[in-house]
Amino acid sequence: QIHFDSIWSYSIPVEDNYTVSALIERANKNAGQELDDPEIVKGDIAVYTGLQNADPCTSRGCKWRSSRNGNVYVPYVIAKQYCKEHSFARSTCIRFTRRTSQKDYLYIQSRSGCWSFVGRRGKKQVVSLAKSGCVYHKVIQHELLHALGFNHEQSRSDRDSHVRILYKNIIKGKEHNFRKIKTNNLGTPYDYGSIMHYGRKSFSRNGRPTIVPIPNPNVVIGKASKMSRFDIKRVNLLYKC
Ligand SMILES: [Zn+2]
Repeated sequence: QIHFDSIWSYSIPVEDNYTVSALIERANKNAGQELDDPEIVKGDIAVYTGLQNADPCTSRGCKWRSSRNGNVYVPYVIAKQYCKEHSFARSTCIRFTRRTSQKDYLYIQSRSGCWSFVGRRGKKQVVSLAKSGCVYHKVIQHELLHALGFNHEQSRSDRDSHVRILYKNIIKGKEHNFRKIKTNNLGTPYDYGSIMHYGRKSFSRNGRPTIVPIPNPNVVIGKASKMSRFDIKRVNLLYKC
């Protein structure tokens, strides 16, 4: 079971083409080198040199205190550098809250793959975030924007003025992913940097592009690592924040 509050609020926008160990290795490249850093062993285990067990200070009062019920509560605050400024709570009036008894709700579940329905469907509504591969800030934002009612950017009603879809390069049977929808664009411009925009070679059957920006084919598309300014604006407009 995914702990949604913490995953959502504090998931970090990491590269998703790295394995966890590669991520740790990369992140820890410079760990243990600052003057007051512990030494880092086995990839991500911090130790103070020469002390492989409880530090002598634990007998002198540096332990965290037990509470009456036997648990040890260790208070913490998460530092601001974790990209909360682009979170829903910070930039919109959307608040994902733990369900108590509401009739309609998102059921965040690790099924196979990352997927969501579009908009509120009524009653229990699955958003699948597979434990391996989907629990990244950008993936979660993308799926939650679907759940809030948004489609892929390249499905927009006005997309033909901004991208060309190369059907000859699309995997047979996957063409439906490129269908145009009568979207409400809320007066916002077409956004190549939207977290909802597919990449250039999505569903390609031959390694060639399936989506090409026009008029400039070199514009970067589908590389967002978080909600764009216009993704946020659209949420605020749609929900009258
Ligand atoms: Zn999607």
